[in-house]
Amino acid sequence: MTERSGRINDCVVLSGPELEPFLCSSFEYEDGRITRMDIRGKAPQPIGKRPVIAPAFVNGHTHVGDCFLADAATRLTLAEAFFRPNGFKYQSLATVPRNEHLDAMKGYLQAMAASGTIAHFDFREQGLEGCRRLRETAQAVGVHSVILSQFDGVPFSAEQLEKNQEPLPDTFIAELHEILQESDGFSESTMNDQTDTAWQTIASICTEANKAKTIHCLEDASYRDTSLARTELGDLQRAIEILQPDLIVHLTVANDEEIARIVSANIPVAINPRANATLGLPLPPVAKLLQAGVPLLLGTDNAMLNGANLMAELDFTYKLARSQFGNQNQIDPTVTLKMVTSNVALTRWGSELPGELSVGLPASFVEFDFSSPTLRTSHHCAATIVTRCQPADIRQTVRNGHTIHQRKA
Ligand SMILES: [Zn+2]
Repeated sequence: MTERSGRINDCVVLSGPELEPFLCSSFEYEDGRITRMDIRGKAPQPIGKRPVIAPAFVNGHTHVGDCFLADAATRLTLAEAFFRPNGFKYQSLATVPRNEHLDAMKGYLQAMAASGTIAHFDFREQGLEGCRRLRETAQAVGVHSVILSQFDGVPFSAEQLEKNQEPLPDTFIAELHEILQESDGFSESTMNDQTDTAWQTIASICTEANKAKTIHCLEDASYRDTSLARTELGDLQRAIEILQPDLIVHLTVANDEEIARIVSANIPVAINPRANATLGLPLPPVAKLLQAGVPLLLGTDNAMLNGANLMAELDFTYKLARSQFGNQNQIDPTVTLKMVTSNVALTRWGSELPGELSVGLPASFVEFDFSSPTLRTSHHCAATIVTRCQPADIRQTVRNGHTIHQRKA
């Protein structure tokens, strides 16, 4: 066996983009790619004590940089904790010592790997320095951080934003070029943090540099209302028309018309139900988004609000969707599991993060230990992963053939 190679015998594999559970006599990988899956028919029911191999998870929306402030936003509102320029997080980020910050992020990324996550889309604050801090930490841990950077400062005063006329200042144009040399793209808190002219400039610079554009929309009604008052268009409509983002985050309060807009724009959306609930916001319309066919990812959002365990988000989201659909069995838990695996193939990062297990694709997987009395009676692999498995049930997390987490014996 060479490095980045391995074999797991007599297992159940959640295979292909549909995550179909098959009995597999030998799952093999070499040099970071899957080389063999000896399928022996459908997975038995119950699963028994076999290991279960699932595609490794991708977290669709994080702010890992805030992890040194665990639960510090408790009892603060969305605006008090998170809004620019004076929200609690921005004041704290401005003063955290670099070493302390990197140590905290390292611990958080290790906890991500220990809960099955190999990659995340991070909306990183602090401009170029923020990007460098996360890049350095991610390389040390082995997690793939897709870094979507913000400006370090704010280009416009409240009055300028109100008038919605100013162009993006030259210093910020220069900062954007600099950031995009090292980050994977640009992110912003809300459409209301820039003028429309600035957004046009940002969009064309990102497109020219072949970097991603990402934005939070409709996290609460104020996003839409502020945008409407300034521009006569809601924030989602402005995002679609001016920015043409690669990924939109939240849509917590999206109405039917807005859901129809996102469907025709065909933009993937990362929802974050637990973060919304923690902040006292409404829960996102998961059932309507699913029914409309919106490509959905799932994120744990800000590290102040949530730990790194994406399985907790899976559990919450599945039950939320079930509740919204009503008692008609309209959602299979596999649909939820796809939000952190094969749906990632629908984004611009699909070729590097296909989120499925097939011969020839990257060996990026989670090996679950189903031998415990609480798991081995499972009659539905995806349901058990979504609603019962804990990080302690993960034997290893593997990214491109590298084991980035191994359970202690
Ligand atoms: Zn966010």
